[in-house]
Formats: sequence, structure tokens, C-alpha cells
Amino acid sequence: MTIRSTIKAVFFDMDGVLYDSMPNHEYTWIHSLKEYGIDFPAEEAYMHEGRTGFSTIRIAFEKYLNRTATLEEQEAVYALKTKLMGERPTAPILPMMQELIAELRKKGLQVFVVTGSKQPLLVEKLHAHFSMEAANIVSGADVKNGKPDPEPYLIAWERSGLPKDQCMVVENAPMGVESAKAAGLFTLAVNTGKLADQVLLNAGADHLFQDTKALYKVIITQLNHQKNA
Ligand code: MG
Repeated sequence: MTIRSTIKAVFFDMDGVLYDSMPNHEYTWIHSLKEYGIDFPAEEAYMHEGRTGFSTIRIAFEKYLNRTATLEEQEAVYALKTKLMGERPTAPILPMMQELIAELRKKGLQVFVVTGSKQPLLVEKLHAHFSMEAANIVSGADVKNGKPDPEPYLIAWERSGLPKDQCMVVENAPMGVESAKAAGLFTLAVNTGKLADQVLLNAGADHLFQDTKALYKVIITQLNHQKNA
């Protein structure tokens, strides 16, 4: 795997890339949908990661209840999921991600976060943990069409002001990889969840890492090598 020496910006997904938050999403999807008679398999929480909450609820109702969820039901399930999320333990930051972002900035690269999340205090949290400014955060509130649509990553790319071959994405979810690839961007996948590697590769990932430590090591080693070359 070779990172282009022209890379000047990195767009990071949030859940499952910066934070080990997917176990909380898995738990809250299973328990909120159970109230509506749906046995939602853990793996599907990972398969649909990146979609908007309402879209995941509609898909679950179609698949497991063979009917369309009413708007009231979509709102009720999402409200329950949000309430349960508030009761979960704080998700830890994934290993070496603060270090990676700090080092990329030191090397003069732009760093963005591109997430479908609309959670309250998102900007404050990313600022506290990663010194992220609001202008460098694309959230669920900024887009009409969430992942797997390319819109979220296209917004980050536009804000960067760079050609596409100077931008790179880090994702952990198949829908996120599809979104980034549809936006025409080089995409690294890090498999921090429960899916088979092949699911991420089939979604179009250019390269796959087993964890964030390996991701850190390869990116920093290559950028240092290019600088010294
Ligand atoms: Mg993710």
C-alpha cells in the first residue's frame, strides 16, 4: 500500500474510527428495535452504520415486519435509541487517533471529520478530544443525503479546496467506504467492528487495516519517508 505523496488532507469518519462507539450503537439498535418486535442482529448494526437513523429504522421494519414504518414509529424508535445512548458508558477514543491527527496537522495536512451523526455536543466533543474546529466537521446536520451517498465526503472535499487526488478518507463501515469511493476519493478502511474484512473490500476500500494502531504506523511511516526522500 502506498499513500500518494500529494496527500494534503485526510477525512476521518467518527464512529468506529475516532471513537470505539460502535458497541454502544449495536446495543441501542438492538434494544430500541426490540420494543417494536424486531430481533435486529448485531451484524446489521455494523452493516447499516453510516446511514441516517430513520433510514436504518425503515429498512429494519421492511425486512423484519414486512411493512413500512410510519413517521411516528420512526421518530419513536429514534427517540428511544437516543435515550438509550445517553445511558451507555462514554465511548473510548481509539488507540493512536489523537496522536495521528496531531501529527498530520504538524506536517501541514488538513484534517476533517465526516460523520452522519447529529448527536448534541458533537462539535464540543471533537474540539475537546481532537482540537477540531466546527468548519472542519461535516455532520448529519450538514447533508441532505447521508452515506452511502457521496454528499458528505463531497462537502469535506469542497471545503478543503484541494484536488481530489490530494485527499484521503479513513472509514470503518461499508456504507462509509461506498460514500467515499462514490465521491472519487482514495479510501483506507480500518476494521474495528464485527464484519468480515471482505465486506469492506467489496465496498471498494483501497486498503484495509486491522486496527487503528496499524493505520497510524503505516500513515506516519510513509509520510516521514516521503518527507525524507
Ligand atoms: Mg464509522
